[in-house]
Amino acid sequence: MHELGIVQSILDIIEQQMKIHSAKRLVRVELEFGAMTAVMPDAIEFAFAALTKDSPLEGAGLSITIVPIKAVCLDCGHEPVLDTFTPFCPVCSAGVLSIVAGKDEMRIVSIEIE
Ligand SMILES: [Zn+2]
Repeated sequence: MHELGIVQSILDIIEQQMKIHSAKRLVRVELEFGAMTAVMPDAIEFAFAALTKDSPLEGAGLSITIVPIKAVCLDCGHEPVLDTFTPFCPVCSAGVLSIVAGKDEMRIVSIEIE
């Protein structure tokens, strides 16, 4: 379960921010993952609950968004949104797709602390 490692690095960043702002509690955090990370939101929630137990981050609201894979065909210019990655254009089937979103990005969209 690679989600545990992902959540740990996210928590490191949050804890650092809380220290900078002398925050006492994490209220909520909004996360975004590209569909190609194959991250499972359930596993993220589970890891988050397990890793924040008995810490000032425990009980924070967690919002997870999976960004769909958006691509552009380098031949015909079609811009498909894909559920799973495919290297070829579904329209001209010859064109090679370039991924523009939903790749392997992981982002902390917002942190609310108090
Ligand atoms: Zn195409």
